[in-house]
Amino acid sequence: MHFDLLISGGTVVDGTGAPGRRADVGINGKEIAALDDLSEATATRVIDATGLTVTPGFIDVHAHSDGALLADGQHANGIRQGITTEIIAPDGLTLAPLSVENYRMYRWYLSGILGLPPENLDMSSIAAARSNYHHKTSCNVATFAGHGPVRLEAVGFEDVPLTGSALDRAKGVLSDALEQGACGFATGLSYYPQSYSTTDEMVELCKVAAEFDRPLSIHLRNHNVDRAPTGGGVEEAIEIGKQSGVKVHLEHYRTQPGSEGDLEAILAPVDRAKSEGVDITLETYPYPVGSSFPQSFFPGWVHEGGPEKLLERLSDRSLRPQIVEEMSRVLYGRPAGNVWSWIGPEGDESLAGMLFDDLAASRESSVPDLVCDLMVESNLACGFRGAPPHSTRVWRQIEEDVMELLARPDYMIGSDAIPVGQQPHPRAYGCFPRVVGRLRRRYRYLLEQVVQRVTQNPAERFGLDRRGVLKPGNFADIVVFDADRINDRSSFEDPAVFPEGIPHVVVNGQVAVDHERLTGVLAGEAVP
Ligand SMILES: [Zn+2]
Repeated sequence: MHFDLLISGGTVVDGTGAPGRRADVGINGKEIAALDDLSEATATRVIDATGLTVTPGFIDVHAHSDGALLADGQHANGIRQGITTEIIAPDGLTLAPLSVENYRMYRWYLSGILGLPPENLDMSSIAAARSNYHHKTSCNVATFAGHGPVRLEAVGFEDVPLTGSALDRAKGVLSDALEQGACGFATGLSYYPQSYSTTDEMVELCKVAAEFDRPLSIHLRNHNVDRAPTGGGVEEAIEIGKQSGVKVHLEHYRTQPGSEGDLEAILAPVDRAKSEGVDITLETYPYPVGSSFPQSFFPGWVHEGGPEKLLERLSDRSLRPQIVEEMSRVLYGRPAGNVWSWIGPEGDESLAGMLFDDLAASRESSVPDLVCDLMVESNLACGFRGAPPHSTRVWRQIEEDVMELLARPDYMIGSDAIPVGQQPHPRAYGCFPRVVGRLRRRYRYLLEQVVQRVTQNPAERFGLDRRGVLKPGNFADIVVFDADRINDRSSFEDPAVFPEGIPHVVVNGQVAVDHERLTGVLAGEAVP
């Protein structure tokens, strides 16, 4: 027997949750050809995995890499973690399908979260977008159909209801996207234009996703809560599932500083709905605070018309008191306590890493004013992340909660990585090794179980055929790591640091990471 690639001598943890066992993996072309004792076989290339663990490549179900992958397909921060498939467009914050004008406009609007990908790309359909990633990235890329583009293509960046012919247009855009391979429908109801929607609109759109048997990935509503009879939150997501029949996937669903330790409170409504027949899965990332872009602080009218209008309003001193006052009225509108994760080339890039409050004080400004000013100075290309809680106890409790959640068979990991800027959230470089290494060992979870949650689970949920499990006939997406040593090294202090203990990563049978070094191979495909 001869193979193109042979991974020999390792312990195979195949992704199904079955106990690890000594086995060699023989690969021909893109596929796993044999998984057995292959000590008699020859191979063009052998990876010696003696003493190491061999698992399916990790699947990230929530990656804001849409722009980063277009700007640099090597994508070192992801592939070095062992992530072989990323699902982009979570929250519906994405760049396709968009007409030429809408692409330019939304690229600008989203630059705080997606960075600055090339300006002249054909992103007019999901098919076109897929070809911009296919064989141009180190990892496989799956994409959601995003609520943002669906709305923009139907009615532009306007706060108008999607009804009648506008709703028909939106449904057409969504249906085409799913037809062309989008792996689900995603929305973020604290972002725009998504938050202009009502629950009824969500139900109508989700009926289309349900027809394709694709899930809704949802960031729960905290804007325009009066547009949901439930007042938004998890109850709205459940209601959408009940009324439309769509499978529901809850994004970054975990406890937070203030609710740490109280899993019962967040899980009770989920388990109740599941017992009533709603099909729900969930994801989380293993850090106590998040990251986003400042657009999430403002009420709907400030964004109306798109980025040009947004900048006009933020620059207008006469509107400032009203904007600041409306921000202060809602919890999600209060920006104090965050850190700039990135300031684009038109702003003062050296300000990245600074606490909002410190910078506001040094400018003798208020925090909300500072946020408005920096958005103007950077031409909207700026983003932020949380600062970790002062209390180590709170931090540790949330980590413990995350691992307990991940013990549930309906959970998976979504890094929520935002791999742009000078001071990104450390999850962009360390999410998966943190879970599979540090936290698994700290809280003593079974390796096989943790691996199942980041491989088979997401592959099944999002229809990534022949991925997520190591077996003959499946695609050879494989990560080889040292189970005792795999660890994140990215921190809030020093976030852009690669992990350790992950010497080899294989994507579609090609070696993407070899002895912890990028090979330069771009074997990633548009999937499923
Ligand atoms: Zn997100």
